[in-house]
Amino acid sequence: MVIARLADTITRGVENISDTVSETFFEPVIRLGVTGLSRAGKTVFITSLVSNLMDRGRMPGLVAAQEGRIEAAFLQPQPDDTVPRFDYEAHLGALTAADPHWPDSTRAVSELRLSLRVRPSGLLSGLQGPRIMHLDIVDYPGEWLLDLGLMDKDYGTWSRDVLQRLENRACAKAYLDLARTAQGDEKHDETVARDLAHSFTGYLHEARAQGFSDCTPGRFLLPGDLAGSPALTFAPLPSDGPSKRRSLRREMERRYEAYKSQVVKPFFRDHFSRIDRQVVLIDALGAIHSGPRAVDDMRHAMSDILGAFRPGRNAFLTRLLMGKRVEKILFAATKADHLHHKQHDRLAAIMQALVRDAADRADFAGADTRAMAMASLRATTEETLTHEGEALDCVRGTLLETGKQAAFYPGDLPQDPMRLLNPARDGAETWLDADYEVMQFAPAQLSLKPNEGPPHIRLDRAAEFLLGDRL
Ligand code: GDP
Repeated sequence: MVIARLADTITRGVENISDTVSETFFEPVIRLGVTGLSRAGKTVFITSLVSNLMDRGRMPGLVAAQEGRIEAAFLQPQPDDTVPRFDYEAHLGALTAADPHWPDSTRAVSELRLSLRVRPSGLLSGLQGPRIMHLDIVDYPGEWLLDLGLMDKDYGTWSRDVLQRLENRACAKAYLDLARTAQGDEKHDETVARDLAHSFTGYLHEARAQGFSDCTPGRFLLPGDLAGSPALTFAPLPSDGPSKRRSLRREMERRYEAYKSQVVKPFFRDHFSRIDRQVVLIDALGAIHSGPRAVDDMRHAMSDILGAFRPGRNAFLTRLLMGKRVEKILFAATKADHLHHKQHDRLAAIMQALVRDAADRADFAGADTRAMAMASLRATTEETLTHEGEALDCVRGTLLETGKQAAFYPGDLPQDPMRLLNPARDGAETWLDADYEVMQFAPAQLSLKPNEGPPHIRLDRAAEFLLGDRL
């Protein structure tokens, strides 16, 4: 038995090695991670990226496409048999239907392999024929990435940190009241544990809806098939010393550790550690609309995210990565089609300032890091209206709620990003001299020419940054 299992392991090892060898030498693979908090735009991004890589008429900024060196792009079975496939066809179907609608959002990890047949450039072009490059796109919730912060903390420290953060959030009042009355030293009672976890989860949802980014543990918001399991039935409790045996707090402690070892660890081991390049999508306009606190929280979340990619930051991750590094990280503000193009540079400047700040705070160096403003799917057209004698640069689209067409002016982003970032850092409650609005637009009806993917803003530049050097 043991020998058979051993032999099996060796054979599988050899198979894996030979797979890797053949792929490394003959068919290179790029694993592109796509993340961002829920509703940041991951599903729409991947759908539009894949469609625009298959039909490259709208990808002039992707040099290999512009030079006509991408001969073909086609979907193939993905290499990981146990990871759900990204449902590209259904998502594209939603966006391109006669009555277009947004696809279902990311709720868990999924994967898709797109293979590109590319002619080499430069000196090699005359010597070598076209080669195949596989792009494995791995879609995963940013909430799960932020869970890395739990790995370094024991339950007591985590509880203290979270409860402190909650003090400043009105939406946490109900949970704080419950946690303060909970008898952590009393015998564990499942009903009490469930009530606490339920109330804490309710707070996390509310905080997320209010635009806050740091809403961990991530699976409380996106539980997948773990909903209702003990690993998700815990919550932070105040404490003033070691917890007693069989007490509520001791059981919470145990479940918190189970969450780390059985939920967080496997995600980092099986998915995160294998990523070569990463795009982090950020709904910056949504956070700006929510106010300075949400922007400050987004700032913190970005440095936490960047910290996850910093080699040596976290003992657990350092062991896991064994020196492997992510080569490129793109932070992209999504939904730039909510702004007239005259404001795109301002949004990009805000993102650049945020990324610079995040890199400083996370003491990050190594990967090539970039920030930009983009839209995976342009749902609006531009229009200049006259309002009280002044020209107002608006966007026009179909409102998601009413289905009616409307022109929309989101507000004037400042030229100097610090005009937003300083009040956010200083803990301001509201923006003093400006008001920012967001709208939900429905996707526009598309009539695509045969060689065109969906319309976008700077998706081609994003693809060039992430993949261009390997094509
Ligand atoms: P996910 O949770 O990160 O997978 O987010 P989705 O990709 O499902 O996007 C969430 C919502 O954001 C969508 O339902 C759209 O309403 C909106 N959205 C995403 N991308 C765009 C875009 O490029 N333009 C516009 N106007 N809206 C977008």
